[in-house]
Amino acid sequence: MKIKKADQVKVILGKDKGRVGVVEKIYPKSHKLLVKGINMYKKHVKKSESFPKGGIVEINRPMLDNKVMLVCPNCKEKTRVGYTLDSKQQKQRLCRKCHKVIK
Ligand SMILES: [Zn+2]
Repeated sequence: MKIKKADQVKVILGKDKGRVGVVEKIYPKSHKLLVKGINMYKKHVKKSESFPKGGIVEINRPMLDNKVMLVCPNCKEKTRVGYTLDSKQQKQRLCRKCHKVIK
């Protein structure tokens, strides 16, 4: 996947459109990612050992990767990701806007 853990991403579709967050977890098989504080859902829970009072909890749900774009750490713009090879022939991600390598 083009987006990696700890990347900053901007939401481009859906209810959180325009918000920026940091990727906490990647789910490559389902093309989903968990972005901290984005795609939060309220869930009603019954009383249980982990929720002794019951009530409403907020759950951070994974979202599809096509709903976000990477925010380039160099130019701070949301961008598509390209690839380039470094001197060791290792694939590096490249910002299509400022053409710098994204770590
Ligand atoms: Zn850039």
